[in-house]
Amino acid sequence: MALLQISEPGMSTAPHEHRLAAGIDLGTTNSLVASVRSGDATTLANEQGEHLLPSVVRYLPDGSVVVGAEAKAVEVSDLNNTISSAKRLLGRGVDDIKTLAGNLPYTFSSSDSQVPKISTVAGDVSAIEVSAEILKALKNRAEKTLGGDLKGVVITVPAYFDDAQRQATKDAARLADLNVYRLLNEPTAAAVAYGLDQGEDFDEKIIAVYDLGGGTFDISILRLNKGVFEVLATGGDSALGGDDFDHVIAEWILQQLGDEQENNPTKLREVLVEARRVKEALSDADKVEVSLGDWQGQFTAEQFAELAEPLVKKTLFACRRALRDADIDKEDVMDVVMVGGSTRMPIIRQRVGDFFEKPPLVDIDPDKVVAVGAAIQADLLAGNKPDTEMLLLDVIPLSLGLETYGGLVEKIIARNTTIPISRAQEFTTFKDSQNAMTIHVLQGERETVEENRSLAKFTLRDIPAMVAGAARIKVTFQVDADGLLNVTAEEETTGVKSSIEVKPSYGLSDAEIESMIKDSMTNAQADMELRKLREAQVEADRTIEALDSAMASDGDTLLSADEKTKLLAAREALLLEKQSGDTEAIKAAIKNMEKTAEFYVARRMDGNIRTAMAGQNIDKFKD
Ligand code: AMP
Repeated sequence: MALLQISEPGMSTAPHEHRLAAGIDLGTTNSLVASVRSGDATTLANEQGEHLLPSVVRYLPDGSVVVGAEAKAVEVSDLNNTISSAKRLLGRGVDDIKTLAGNLPYTFSSSDSQVPKISTVAGDVSAIEVSAEILKALKNRAEKTLGGDLKGVVITVPAYFDDAQRQATKDAARLADLNVYRLLNEPTAAAVAYGLDQGEDFDEKIIAVYDLGGGTFDISILRLNKGVFEVLATGGDSALGGDDFDHVIAEWILQQLGDEQENNPTKLREVLVEARRVKEALSDADKVEVSLGDWQGQFTAEQFAELAEPLVKKTLFACRRALRDADIDKEDVMDVVMVGGSTRMPIIRQRVGDFFEKPPLVDIDPDKVVAVGAAIQADLLAGNKPDTEMLLLDVIPLSLGLETYGGLVEKIIARNTTIPISRAQEFTTFKDSQNAMTIHVLQGERETVEENRSLAKFTLRDIPAMVAGAARIKVTFQVDADGLLNVTAEEETTGVKSSIEVKPSYGLSDAEIESMIKDSMTNAQADMELRKLREAQVEADRTIEALDSAMASDGDTLLSADEKTKLLAAREALLLEKQSGDTEAIKAAIKNMEKTAEFYVARRMDGNIRTAMAGQNIDKFKD
């Protein structure tokens, strides 16, 4: 027997195994993969030393695919088979892309699938399959560089991505044979990259993430509380980015050249290319020489600042709105993180710094910061740092609710609520002996069903026979850490249960989310009035239902023919008024109906047949 024990019983003598994990920033134009090596999170390059992988996939006649720079190089000459910006189509349905498709150079297949497919020489492909090719390329790069199989990855998604878009991202990862530890919101990843969650000298900390890319702008307000990260609010402009800054310089150049150039597309393209060069050069200089053909000029940072002012203001306006949504004063923002290539512009750094009254964080390459944060999170979830605890929480971008009687929407979880979350609410039956209830799940900010987006519908069956209002149906909405929704309905007295995982086949764009929120604000007054009308109509139905039910059970024994006629006349008047669309008139008709029926209610009570009625029916005819 060995006298010297070199390990505790049951413990291995082998050193702790480092599990290979990676963070993936799956972008619209470029994608990146990063990993933690020797304690440092860095992005991984291909054999040519390039870190950014253009998110472009080309399909060839033999079924093979080319991903990245090589595909991008031939994009213009093989438009139909070379897919870029697949991220914009992820999680979208055929109906969603109708408007988008007109602006895309692809031929969409006319198959009857709910998921739009692009026709290529190699067959029809969906955005999920295209994204999977990008993910596969990144996976290969990571496994080659790290020298082993990836155990799992964290993939980042925009904070405004809805259920369908998140699901589609996960499906793409599954196709690429990747194990997804979790999806992470892009702004959260950027904050993690800066280690803003580290350090003990604060209880709570508010962080703003300002993300200005080539074509989009996103602002997110995050809160860190005792090691817990949550996204309080998101906002932005899906049609504002570096390209717009190119345009203001291009317009200036065109003015110098004279207007006659404006209709020449080749010339315009040249002007835009020069404008972008000038813009980027101005990030390192106060003035830049501009030249186009035989024309030469000079453009200064000061001129740029003046021309770009409306664009800068737009982004700051969105910042203000996100702060308001989050209910945060800008003085309370402790750190501002810069993401996206366009945050290299000194004017942006300056004005964002002035707005938040502190210099923004710019040390990490703004193109890589999201992937770096994802890598740190992936390393943690792989169990490589067992001592650290970091829980990341996000918010839902739009309210989730249920259809209630009268075509109204009852919100169960309000927009900007932190996930994961579970909320329940109780509902009841509307009619006597109602044995089924349709649960219609909706997303949006408006008051009525038609104005919101339908996510799913299912039916709770086998509700036992009870009088109206007696059943207790508990509907629970559960949104998991990845933002996916599960809805359960349960009749509590019997335990009858039914549930659905909401996996809509298509999603909404951030622009649509924006406009849905905007609509709800501009229509707030009209919506409220419509809600009142619908509520009065529901009340009218309920009153009639209660009378019918009472008369069916004892009308013949308790009422004379005359009395019956009187009650039925009031009922008829109420029914007519219900269609009128006049809330006050409906309320008056309900009052009149109740007054007319007072004697009948009293008689029923006197006759001690109270048990024949229950719940709100009896209450109704009591007042
Ligand atoms: P992204 O989508 O994050 O890769 O951002 C690309 C945008 O960043 C484009 O509009 C570029 O013109 C812009 N960009 C890249 N480098 C610079 C720079 N040095 N100065 C200003 N803008 C830049």
